[in-house]
Amino acid sequence: MPFDSVTPGDLFECRQCGQCCHGYGGTYLNAADIENIAGYLGISGDELITRYCTVSGGRYILRQKSDGYCVFWDELCTIHPVKPRMCRAWPFIAAVICDPANWDAMAEACPGIRTGFNKQDIVRCVREKLEELDSSRSNLHPQKQTGGIS
Ligand code: SF4
Ligand code: SF4
Repeated sequence: MPFDSVTPGDLFECRQCGQCCHGYGGTYLNAADIENIAGYLGISGDELITRYCTVSGGRYILRQKSDGYCVFWDELCTIHPVKPRMCRAWPFIAAVICDPANWDAMAEACPGIRTGFNKQDIVRCVREKLEELDSSRSNLHPQKQTGGIS
């Protein structure tokens, strides 16, 4: 397959199974996430943190319900338009650029990830998606972009 013919859409298509929204994974929120989600819910950032977040590693993460699902999961993501950056990015994350072998490892937990692609195509697609994500975010919150992931 020619180098440039592999697209991010070839590598991944979400099955909306909700597996990534279950279990303690630490869905971190950055400042823009807090502002976006709070605005979407019509509450203050402080209220969002109090009602829906906990702290892990010195950062805010979303709470889980008693069934182990994210507090915002209800058969689908109820904050989809403003879901946290790390949810938007998945599975195109910096850890795959650091080690493309992570792609196949992640596929074991995410049925939307397709395997069998070469490392160069995977890394190129991940970079492309992260750039796209940063670009869309900078349009929303140009004052808050610091680069990097999550
Ligand atoms: S585990 Fe993968 S396929 Fe399932 S909802 Fe999450 S991203 Fe989509
Ligand atoms: S915010 Fe949405 S996509 Fe992210 S873990 Fe929670 S339910 Fe899943």
